[in-house]
Amino acid sequence: MRTLSNVDTVGVVGAGNMGSGIAQVAATSGYDVIMRDIETAYVDAGMDTIESSLDRLVSSDRLPSEEAEEARERITGTTELDALADADLVVEAVVENMDVKTDVFADLDEITDDDVVLGTNTSTLSITSIASATSRPELVAGIHFMNPVPIMEGVEIVVGEQTTPEAVDLAHEFSEALGKTTWESDDKPGFVVNRVLMPWINEGIRAYDEGVATREDIDDGLKLGTNVPMGPLELADHIGLDICLDASTTLYEELGDRYKPAYLLKRKVEAGELGRKTGSGFYDYE
Ligand code: NAD
Repeated sequence: MRTLSNVDTVGVVGAGNMGSGIAQVAATSGYDVIMRDIETAYVDAGMDTIESSLDRLVSSDRLPSEEAEEARERITGTTELDALADADLVVEAVVENMDVKTDVFADLDEITDDDVVLGTNTSTLSITSIASATSRPELVAGIHFMNPVPIMEGVEIVVGEQTTPEAVDLAHEFSEALGKTTWESDDKPGFVVNRVLMPWINEGIRAYDEGVATREDIDDGLKLGTNVPMGPLELADHIGLDICLDASTTLYEELGDRYKPAYLLKRKVEAGELGRKTGSGFYDYE
């Protein structure tokens, strides 16, 4: 298995919210990055997100401009699957859908060297199921970054049924090399964070749908009453309502009624109102 000292090039699959953030942080930490998405428009959007995020870090004196420039040069955006052949470690951050993820892992298994660890950023899906699409399930682990990746310090490392301790160690060491702090979870639905977070978000949505209070009062109540930085409706918009619905549905299927997604969450996703990323969700955004 490739150890951290053999990792120079990081493959990132998916250039959305999370993939672009992971690519950025890997590049600012000195790694060469290949970021792959299915269409040029998605790759370009991911590169634009990185560009604006680096600009913000530079203008707020959190990153020297030369380092931002070097980081930009280390990232190659592509739609070519084969470009990932050069990766020494891969983090997958495509949509939260088991069929899509298993297809991606089957491809990665073919393309990358046999000793490369394959990480998934899944929020709730089984690492063991994702790993079963490969011939190296022992080298597949959850490397679950938080949103927004450049700002949030934590990474949840998830241990699949067959993941070896060496692959788990590499997942921790790699995340730490990106300046993050890790914790570890067994491969149980939702792991630690989403198992606890999703029922909280869904209860906020139900409270809104049932007319308990305005959306602002629900968010203010939770912020002022429990000292969290975002209320459940704001946080759902920030995560993306499609991601929240996919995560809640997985938890519901695996753990039963207490995880049933709120009706209004489904209705918003059906209407294409996915939160910040589409300009409207529970709130409207410019
Ligand atoms: P997103 O919708 O912003 O981005 C997903 C990207 O994957 C899109 O650009 C899409 O085109 C691309 N994609 C789809 N199929 C692909 C393929 N076969 N190959 C390459 N790219 C492909 O989603 P996101 O918010 O970045 O979430 C990505 C993953 O990270 C999901 O598993 C999600 O559950 C997880 N996650 C999300 C958050 C969050 O707050 N949004 C937090 C932690 C983890």
